[in-house]
Amino acid sequence: MSAPTCLFCRIVTEAIPATVIARSPHSLAFRDIDPQAPTHVLVIPRRHVPNVGELADSPAELADLFELAAQVAAEEGLDRGYRMVTNTGSEGGQLVYHAHVHVLGGRSMQWPPG
Ligand code: AMP
Ligand code: ZN
Repeated sequence: MSAPTCLFCRIVTEAIPATVIARSPHSLAFRDIDPQAPTHVLVIPRRHVPNVGELADSPAELADLFELAAQVAAEEGLDRGYRMVTNTGSEGGQLVYHAHVHVLGGRSMQWPPG
């Protein structure tokens, strides 16, 4: 799946709206529509790849993604720490098959849950 059918590709092309908070040459950061923490931002590559593992052969895009994630965490004031999560496949809990990193913070991110 890729543009124009992929949800996150449609956010990249602005075909559907999102609360975009930061951009970099290869990546985009926007607020999750169903936040699980006071700060819950998704950081995605602009290029369609189904998961983060498949970005591994592109060090420039991978580095850009994590650089933007760290920048967002700093700008959101997450100086006490934050969690980055990336889900892969159905058993990994992946719902959107366009690579993304969740940046979660603003509360204690206990793991494992419970
Ligand atoms: P995952 O389960 O890792 O694939 O996460 C997909 C995330 O995308 C979920 O946390 C959803 O709440 C989020 N999401 C789904 N649709 C949108 C949207 N239109 N804008 C922002 N976030 C979305
Ligand atoms: Zn996509």
